[in-house]
Amino acid sequence: MPALLSKSKYLTGLQCPKYLWTQIHEPERIPEADAITQYVFDQGHLVGEYAKQLFPGGIDIQHDDFMGNIVTTKKLLAERKPLFEAGILSGRIYCRLDILNPASEDEWDIVEIKSGTSVKDVHVDDVSFQKFCCGKAGLEIRSCKLGFMNKQYVKNGEIDPKGLFILEDISTQVEEISEGIEERVFGLLEVISNKTCPEAAIGQHCLAPYECPLRTECWGFLPQNSIFDLRGGKTAQFSLYEQGILSIEDIPDYIPLTRQQQIQKECVMTGNVHVEKEEIRRFLSNLKYPLYYLDFETFGPAVPMYDGTRPYQDMPFQFSLHVVENGTSEPVHHSFLAEGREDPRAEILRELQRLLGSEGSIIAYNAGFEEGVLQELVEAFPEYTDWLKGILARMVDLLYPFTNFHYYHASQKDTASLKKVLPAVTGKGYEEMGIGAGMDASIAYGRILYGNATEEETAKIRADLLKYCKLDTEGMIWIIAKLRQIAGGIIGLD
Ligand code: SF4
Repeated sequence: MPALLSKSKYLTGLQCPKYLWTQIHEPERIPEADAITQYVFDQGHLVGEYAKQLFPGGIDIQHDDFMGNIVTTKKLLAERKPLFEAGILSGRIYCRLDILNPASEDEWDIVEIKSGTSVKDVHVDDVSFQKFCCGKAGLEIRSCKLGFMNKQYVKNGEIDPKGLFILEDISTQVEEISEGIEERVFGLLEVISNKTCPEAAIGQHCLAPYECPLRTECWGFLPQNSIFDLRGGKTAQFSLYEQGILSIEDIPDYIPLTRQQQIQKECVMTGNVHVEKEEIRRFLSNLKYPLYYLDFETFGPAVPMYDGTRPYQDMPFQFSLHVVENGTSEPVHHSFLAEGREDPRAEILRELQRLLGSEGSIIAYNAGFEEGVLQELVEAFPEYTDWLKGILARMVDLLYPFTNFHYYHASQKDTASLKKVLPAVTGKGYEEMGIGAGMDASIAYGRILYGNATEEETAKIRADLLKYCKLDTEGMIWIIAKLRQIAGGIIGLD
């Protein structure tokens, strides 16, 4: 059978013909989906199952067998019932529809379900291809709808699919975007029929609507300290690239740079670390003993798990807290990691109230995140409102000196994230960790929650989570120690 153009391949081709061609002819060049992509896919699948409940009496068409699915769909069309996973093949184009809903005697509505929270252009392209494919197969389409997550929905008991989703009619957008679709489809069929891979220059299309998995290959020619490591966003970076500038050190003096970009350039060219001692001293002078180093790990499922929570609400399931009483005492570590599937929020608040005391700085890295988590916790448990006011007044953001370039090391590239700053400042990092990033922690915890991990895996994940979160707060202690050294002594802490 000649290669078909499916809706996912159509979207791939719109993003980049080279990516499409490689998918068809040399798929081994495409790295396997990473854990985050797989997680997004799994969440989409779960969401899709709830969406089916919006169409009672629908028929779920078996979709493991490609041709079987298409043949069954053809037969079932006559029944005029909602069809889930209907497969439509016409010539060399093919699509699988989330929901094909009978609209009148002989018309259908296309309903595409997404796990996101708004309509995006790529969704409209997706549906336009489905409509085109259905049209070619002789189906009359009355309207096109997109179902996405309603961020305002609050779980109360069983999930109510009518509240969980917003169904938006996107027929007009589909109509508009469909102009020229026949030529686009024809062009992409040519691409996949071709024996040679089309040339494609790198560009913003490598990053959107999805980051292309071939990026490492296509962007591999860039030098170390490339202009894509420069602060200021992709538009500014591509503008330099289009002028033929590949490396930060090659940026000519006549090109105006922001203060941060200038610091980056100097650090790359000299190999020095940029330090603003006075600013660091000022930052440190605000710290008051006892010092509390706090970090949360959270999980934000598309379909809320606990009553009173919304889709994608960041639900804390773990915290690490190091407490340093005074200038001579050793840090004392406390940690919390939720057990089982019960809502851990009340216990987290109880524990924090017990451990955080009533004075001293509470240090977090990117503290706005920890503050947001605490505020959402207290929304659910308003009896902690007064306590929270005191806590928020004591919060200090350790991100501040780094995001403001009071300290900068070229190895941070364009980020001030803890994962880059910790090794840059202390030489210690996350390399040997089973879990080495917040999103990995969240996904790993999700595997336990959804019952997708064996007992052995669960024990390993829990051990890795405890180790990872502990390093986040321990790392902050090391960073503060290093900043104090840099600042030339003990500032404001004694
Ligand atoms: S990395 Fe960019 S140029 Fe390369 S295949 Fe992907 S989208 Fe195309």
